[in-house]
Formats: sequence, structure tokens, C-alpha cells
Amino acid sequence: MAAVSVATDQPVRVRLAPSPTGTLHIGTARTAVFNWLFARRHGGQFLLRIEDTDKERSKSDYTANILEGLQWLGLNWDGEPVIQSARIEAHRTAITQLLASGHAYRCYASDDELTAMREAQAASRQAPRYDNRHRDLSLEQEQAYIAEGRQAVVRFRIDDTAVITWNDLVRGPMRWSGSDLGGDMVIARRAPADQIGDPLYNLVVVVDDAAMAISHVIRGEDHIANTAKQLLLYGALGQTAPVFAHTPLILNQEGKKLSKRDGVTSVSDFRAMGYTAEALANYMTLLGWSPPEGMGERFSLDQAAEVFDFDRVNRAGARFDWDKLNWLNGQVLHSLSASTLHAKLAPLWSEQGWGVSGPAADSLWQLDLATLLGPSLTLLADGVEQAAPFFTAPELNEAAAAQLAIDGARPALAALAAALERHGDTPLSAPEAQELLTDAVTRAGIKKGVLMKSLRAALLGSLQGPDLMETWLLLHRIGADLSRISRCL
Ligand code: GLU
Repeated sequence: MAAVSVATDQPVRVRLAPSPTGTLHIGTARTAVFNWLFARRHGGQFLLRIEDTDKERSKSDYTANILEGLQWLGLNWDGEPVIQSARIEAHRTAITQLLASGHAYRCYASDDELTAMREAQAASRQAPRYDNRHRDLSLEQEQAYIAEGRQAVVRFRIDDTAVITWNDLVRGPMRWSGSDLGGDMVIARRAPADQIGDPLYNLVVVVDDAAMAISHVIRGEDHIANTAKQLLLYGALGQTAPVFAHTPLILNQEGKKLSKRDGVTSVSDFRAMGYTAEALANYMTLLGWSPPEGMGERFSLDQAAEVFDFDRVNRAGARFDWDKLNWLNGQVLHSLSASTLHAKLAPLWSEQGWGVSGPAADSLWQLDLATLLGPSLTLLADGVEQAAPFFTAPELNEAAAAQLAIDGARPALAALAAALERHGDTPLSAPEAQELLTDAVTRAGIKKGVLMKSLRAALLGSLQGPDLMETWLLLHRIGADLSRISRCL
């Protein structure tokens, strides 16, 4: 193999190179996390390159979604994103250089010829590959093809005898044989023979990574075969190759690669479901990386960046574990201050039209509601569901209706309603509320437990919910307790 020098002592410069052909996928986001952590750990740069050369599938909405998702996760990048399509001249120059040095050549094979070649290979049970048939065309043969009106792709020579080795930061020593790379590789799409068609992935990545002085390429293990091809290109272009780290794939519950069919795979989906950026970033760090002993599983990106290294990245695929993500999300939500939690919930509440006007718009009241709900939240979305009966009087569910049908329940609530009426609009303290309850229980002659349960049913429409006394006092503050009790009598 041609000698390729490898960057080992350069300043750390890593990149994320997403293709804007879809929303920010959890796999890409996890790759971003590892890149970001590695850059921060080594005081390096984390760069972004938008690989938008697939004109048909690339959309600016997807680019916006990717940038927004990275920002939301706290994966801030250095400098302006590089837009790959703007660098096409540099890509063409590299192809011209490879043609001139004899590392690349024009191949005029037609689609029909290539299909016939593959069918013949399949019939004789050979692996499909390009058989390098146009590698050494004579000038006359080339001219004859051009005269026929044929167009040509540009192919990069891959010697079957080449041995490609690298020391992968995750997988250790790697070795590929040139004969396993499918024959000479297309690096530019078909075009008239005096032009160079659209440059293709492996070529443009190498040209751009070299131009951006990338020291370490950290990406998913589905790119391993590309790495072997790209190392050959670095050699042919006389460029220094970066160090490579191939991270394990994210697997679904069945142990298969997580795909669109698994439903939620976009960072924006997780966000919409009520996961916090902190928990998702924390969880993605654990997808393939084991924190050092004593660190626990709950940490911030900054904390992980202090200790991150590839020795602790596993080779095996990382199975997606919803329970762990939920647990982490709960941990994050429970650790937030009331005002931070309120700041996260308030926009979700106003999206529902809740607390926009009237007494429930009072921010102190909302802060207290957030404090009351906080400890029971797993997802932010739970903070919407559980807040609903505070903002609007709920229907009674079956259990609540059954509770109110119990002997003595309604008379006791009636006594409580009368006591509340006497109390009037003035604020209600916890001891006063207890007194009203005791008074109603005595008048109705039932057990306190029965009244408490019935009061919960009347206030929340259900027998579930947060602390009853706190719930009642909160509802009293917005003048919603008496009417809810009265409608049940
Ligand atoms: N655009 C490629 C992808 O999204 C980038 C791969 C790489 O990191 O080189 O898979």
C-alpha cells in the first residue's frame, strides 16, 4: 500500500458531517456527542460540515432541524458550518489531479454492460464487483467510445493486492484487503468525456477533511469500509490521513440497527415527547461509552468531557434502553429548581391555552404548581397531563364517580362546601383547611379518609394526583375549589 502518514500529534480538530436528507437522527446526534466530548477533552475544535451534495434529497429544512437539534442538546460547534456543495471546485480539482497522476481513469461502461457483468457474477456465485474492465483502455478504444457518444464516470484504482491498515481508536488494529472493496471505485458521476461529473461521497469527504485539517474522524461503524477506501485516497492525493474512531451502532430492543421503523429516531421527536436536552445528551453518552467507576450514570456533558476517552467506548452495538432514558429524564426534572422547571413547563401550558389569562396566569401560582408536580414527572409531557385538572375542571372518571357514590360522601362534601362558603374568598392556610375538613367530618359523621378521597375526586376528577392538601390550597388560590365541589353535590 502507498505510505499514508497519519496525524497523531496535531491539534484536535473533529467534525460532524451530517447529510441534510432527514431530520437529526439519534445516531448522528450520538456521533456528535462523542465528537464534541473528544474535542472538549483535548481543548480542540468541533466543526460542522453539511454534506448537501445529494441535490435531490437535501433540504434546507433538514439543515435547520439539524442545527437546531445540536444547539438544543448543547453541542455547540466552532466557527461557521462548512457547506459541502460550495466546495465543488476543490473536489473537481482533486479528481483532475488523480486523473493526471494515473490514480484515476474514465470508465465508459454502460448500465447494460454493468448489469450483464453483475448477472454473470451472480450466475457463477461471485461477489458483485466492478471488474476493472476499462482500467487500461488504449487511446483508440477511448476515442471509439467517445465517438459512440458514450459518457464516462471517473474511477479510482483500487489494487486487489493493496493491504490497508489503521489503528482504530475504538476497534484497535484494522486490516482490509483491496480485493474486498468492490473493484475500482466511482468518484465522479457520469458526464461527457471532456468534463468531470458530480464528485461522490468518498472523494469529497477526503478532500474536505484534509482541507479542514481534521485530526480525528469519529463516526459510526457503518463507515468502516469507506475508511479503507478513503485511506487509499489520502495516499493518492498525498494528504495526511486523520486518526479514525468507529463508534458502535445503536440497536433497537431486538438487537437490530435502530431504524425509522422503530418509530422515534429523531432528536426533534424526543424533544416533542418531553425529554429534556440534558437527559437525552446524558443518555446518548452512555450509548456505547462506559463512564469511569464512581462517576455514576447521571452527569452533564461538561462532566463527561473531563474524562471521556475512546478506551471506554465499547465495540459491541449499544441497545436502546427506554427505561434508562426515562429514569435519567426523571432525575434531570427532579433536580431542576422550581423556576427552571416552570420555565420549561410554562410554554407547554400556554400552548394548550392554559394560564394565559385569569387567576391561573399568576406566575407565582404557576411556580407553585410546577413545584407540586415536579417530583412525579418522568417526561415534561407528564407536566402537561398532570397540570390539566388544575387549569380546567376535569370530568369525573369512573373511580371518582364511584367514590362520590359512597354513603356519606356527598353530605360530607356538602358540609365542606358550606364551610368553604363561610370562609369566603380569603386565602386558606393549611391549618385552616384542616379545620374545615375536621368540621365537615364531624357534621357528616363519616371517616376523615372518606372525605379526603371524595374531595380528591371532586377537585381532580380522579383518585390519583399529587398531595391533596397542596392541591386544594392551590385550587383555592384561583377560586376553583368551591365550584368543583359544588358541581358534585
Ligand atoms: N454524510 C455522511 C453521513 O451522514 C458523513 C459520514 C462521515 O462522517 O464521513 O453518513
